Amino acid sequence: MERIYRECQSCGMMLNKSPHGGGTNADGTISRMYCAYCYEKGEFRQPKWTVHQMQEFIRASLKATGMQDFQALAAAKGITKLERWKNAQPAAPGVPAPKPVAGPKPATIAVKQSKTVVKPDKPKQKKADVRAPEMKKKR
Ligand SMILES: [Zn+2]
Repeated sequence: MERIYRECQSCGMMLNKSPHGGGTNADGTISRMYCAYCYEKGEFRQPKWTVHQMQEFIRASLKATGMQDFQALAAAKGITKLERWKNAQPAAPGVPAPKPVAGPKPATIAVKQSKTVVKPDKPKQKKADVRAPEMKKKR
C-alpha cells in the first residue's frame, strides 16, 4: 500500500504543483509519492542521480525562479529526509560514508546559530528618560 505524501519524496516539491498531481506508476496510476518530474511509469527519470546531484539540481531550479541562493541551498539540503534519500549513501562511491549521528545533527544546528547571531554594536539610547522630567515641569 502506497503512502500518500504532500511533497515529492525525491525532490521535495509540492505534489499539487506537479503535472497530474504526481508521477505515474508502472500501471499508469498517479503516484502519491513522487512528482511527474522525478517519476514516470514506475521509474525515476533520473535513476542514477545521487542526493548531491539532486540537491544541485533543486538549488539551480529554485534560483532560476528568483529565490535567493541561501534559501535555495537550504531547501535543497532538506531533501535528505525524503523517502528516496534518507537511506541513501550520502557520500560518493569510494568515499566512506560518515557514521550516523545520534540525536540532533550538529551541522544543522551550527548553521542556524551562525545566522541568528546578533552583534551588540550600538547601545540603545534612552530618549524617554530625558523627555520625561520636562513634561512634568510644564504641568
Ligand atoms: Zn520530484
